[in-house]
Amino acid sequence: MRLFRTFEEVQAFEDANWPVRLAAESPIAASERWPIHCLVCERDVEAAVNIGALFGDAPNLREGIVCPVCGMGNRNRLMAQLVHDLAPIAQFRKVAVFEPRSVYTAMLEKAGYEVAHSAFLPGTNAAEHQDMTATTYRDGQFDLAVHNDVLEHIPDTRAALRDNHRILRPGGKLIFTCPIFAIRSTIVRARMGEDGQVEHILEPEIHGDPLAADGVLAFYNMGIDLLEAVREAGFADVGLAVWYDPALGFTTNNHPLKNAADGSAVGNMLPAVVVATKEPAGRWLNSLFAGSRRRGA
Ligand SMILES: [Zn+2]
Repeated sequence: MRLFRTFEEVQAFEDANWPVRLAAESPIAASERWPIHCLVCERDVEAAVNIGALFGDAPNLREGIVCPVCGMGNRNRLMAQLVHDLAPIAQFRKVAVFEPRSVYTAMLEKAGYEVAHSAFLPGTNAAEHQDMTATTYRDGQFDLAVHNDVLEHIPDTRAALRDNHRILRPGGKLIFTCPIFAIRSTIVRARMGEDGQVEHILEPEIHGDPLAADGVLAFYNMGIDLLEAVREAGFADVGLAVWYDPALGFTTNNHPLKNAADGSAVGNMLPAVVVATKEPAGRWLNSLFAGSRRRGA
């Protein structure tokens, strides 16, 4: 695993890594099953490559490469491992997870984390309803906040990040995924007007959502400037954790589609997780930055 702070660092890794990805991922994408070592299960398994999510004709490797034992794909296994490594339960037991009960949250609970689930369920009386930009959680209530591919669907990214910061105790951690591209600046696909109506700027990009049959609109294709937004929300030690290792089932989501001039093509996503800490940051991540390596990197 490597942590990057800047666009230039990510771009250099992306360029250097590209031939490796092309060679490593073509045979995976062409296979039904692929042997990996699942770090969550700590065993060798035959992962299911294609779970039905596609980019063009090619399987979505970010959602796919599902371990038959824990049931988690590439993205969720990466999140699980980074939470395990960077937010150990002894110090980060109380966790806000911005998703309903899932295979992923069940894994956290089995490990002993105290999980507060939530979902955006406006207009309902559901106890779990939370607007991530203005939650009802108390200041400093949690040791850790986690979300998986939620942020790109929230019009006011910065309000969500500020509320993430508010609900964490000092020294608390934020660990999240969203589709993030090796581009400098975030692409705004849609805006929420003052009247609450969505204004489309680019063709609507709809992502699958377990809570919405028609899927959910992505307002953004995030660039590396997202890290700056996380810093501006008050966080320290903000970094993009990239852990590329096909043997562990951590791959790009689908390399054959790397073709857009602006680098935003859906196939062009590294296995990456945003990590940050609420001040006082201490020395939590300092040793991991600056191109340092950990196992599997
Ligand atoms: Zn597993």
